[in-house]
Amino acid sequence: MRSWLLVFVVFNVLSLKLEVDAFGPDAFVIPATLTLGVFVPIAIAAILSLRGEPSALRIATAITATSLVDMGIVLNSARIAPAAHADVYLVLAVIVPLSVGLIAPLSFRHSLVFCGLAFTLYLGWVMALPRDSLAGGGLFGYGLPLLVASLVLVPLKISFSREQQEKQAFLLRLALEEQAAELAAANARLKRLSETDVLTGLTNRRAFDATLAADWDAAEGWYAVIAVDIDHFKRINDTAGHPEGDRCLVAIAAVLDGWVREAGGLLARYGGEEFMALLPGRSPDEALGLGEGLRAAVEGLALRYGPEQAGWIVTASVGVTVAHGAAGRCGVGASDLVAAADRALYCAKNLGRNRVAAATALPQPANGAAGGAVALYSAASS
Ligand code: GH3
Ligand code: MG
Ligand code: MG
Repeated sequence: MRSWLLVFVVFNVLSLKLEVDAFGPDAFVIPATLTLGVFVPIAIAAILSLRGEPSALRIATAITATSLVDMGIVLNSARIAPAAHADVYLVLAVIVPLSVGLIAPLSFRHSLVFCGLAFTLYLGWVMALPRDSLAGGGLFGYGLPLLVASLVLVPLKISFSREQQEKQAFLLRLALEEQAAELAAANARLKRLSETDVLTGLTNRRAFDATLAADWDAAEGWYAVIAVDIDHFKRINDTAGHPEGDRCLVAIAAVLDGWVREAGGLLARYGGEEFMALLPGRSPDEALGLGEGLRAAVEGLALRYGPEQAGWIVTASVGVTVAHGAAGRCGVGASDLVAAADRALYCAKNLGRNRVAAATALPQPANGAAGGAVALYSAASS
């Protein structure tokens, strides 16, 4: 806006040539003094007041003050100019607020004040003029000045429309942002649902596989995968019923999850009554110790089923595999870790259940045959 005000000043200084032509060299001194002695200093003060980040009010004040002073000077010229030039000044007096109002980005409220003052000043001034000094020697009465004055209201309409458009754009943006936030929340809910096992609330197998693949790819040190399978779970369903089997699963899931979380790992429900944990940064000894902790935690729950005398306590078998991240570069993939933990688990089952076994993860043979060599290096029975 400052540069526009500067243009405004230059325009006024250049218009002094018009004053010389209209007033002649003697009478020219009045408009020249008003322009150079009043308008220019006020306009420069207004320009200086708009340095930095001026508020909307300051901009409106600077623009209104400068324009009205200029308008007053032009209207004064209309009053004192020779009759042949008075009409030109009357039109010029409207062009000032009209062009400034169109250029300045005033809010509707500020525009209302600006245009209202300009309109009142113009009409008040023109009404005060003797009728024969009006356009056409007063032939058209005050109708023509009134028509010209109404042009001052054009910027008002424009600022009203602009403000309405801005309001609508703002509301639209708000609605879009709200929709985007709702969509993001719905997506997050869906993602959580798609990654969560409904019964236990644990991570499901799909999400576990994805996390394991990404983690193993980035693994730099030791990395353990532990499989936990409840022993003779079918018997619980058969003797206590499926709903009781569900409650048993939920209780065991909760206790295992607590252990794994504490160790900084992630536990998933991998299948019906099989859980799988991944534990980054655990040495083979630590991983075996954790496997034993998980086994003991299930036994420690002391969930008893079956007839009073011949009942049994629920136990779980555990399969542990630990590999170094470097093994990933030798062809051991994430699925090889799961396969090794599973092989160790079934070893533990075969050795009598309620125990921990470990196996080394080996790369899949080129022919894709399942298994490969199993290295059982530890078996801990309770
Ligand atoms: P093992 O010691 O060899 O693991 O024997 P198991 O009976 O635990 O294993 P098996 O694979 O024979 O049976 C698993 C049972 O788990 C069969 C299935 O009905 C039950 N099961 C799987 N998912 C659920 C579930 O969500 N709720 C309940 N209540 N039972 C389930
Ligand atoms: Mg089982
Ligand atoms: Mg099973």
